[in-house]
Amino acid sequence: MEELKNIIRDVPDFPKKGIVFKDITTLLADAKSFQRMVDLLAHRYVGERIDKVVGVEARGFIIGAALAYKLGAGVVLVRKPGKLPSETFSKSYELEYGTDTLEIHRDAIKPGEKILIADDVLATGGTMAAVVDMVKTLGGEIVDCCFMAELDFLQGRSRLRGGPSL
Ligand code: IMP
Repeated sequence: MEELKNIIRDVPDFPKKGIVFKDITTLLADAKSFQRMVDLLAHRYVGERIDKVVGVEARGFIIGAALAYKLGAGVVLVRKPGKLPSETFSKSYELEYGTDTLEIHRDAIKPGEKILIADDVLATGGTMAAVVDMVKTLGGEIVDCCFMAELDFLQGRSRLRGGPSL
């Protein structure tokens, strides 16, 4: 676990001054670390029914697809506006400055399906809270949300309280 933490690169002042960005591309590029990360996360859900893994654009697609393959589940994409070709459901959410919007295909999740949501990093939790809301609106039952890394000092978990366990 410590090795996985250490291989994630800290990039100071990205995307703006004062922010230390957790760069998971270093973990993805290392075959053993990536395999270990996927195995560790997938292991939590072995024996559970997971119909679909929802991946959040863009790095969430990578871990989401790998987990879906391991768990024998489908993959659903949550994308930035204007990228999905069929009928979408949109959700806007607050950022520190301004708002952002995410979209999902309306028919991507059927009521009652068991859903795992995956993203690379949990920061303030705003993104994941929005995705949780979208999945619930479409009738999905959230089994869990999982991440490759968490910026725990931002207490993003508290935004997800009352929802899935982490
Ligand atoms: P939140 O909504 O503040 O939790 O931010 C999470 C979203 O922003 C995720 O989709 C991440 O991909 C991205 N993000 C925020 N901080 C970082 C970081 O330090 N490294 C990589 N992605 C980040």
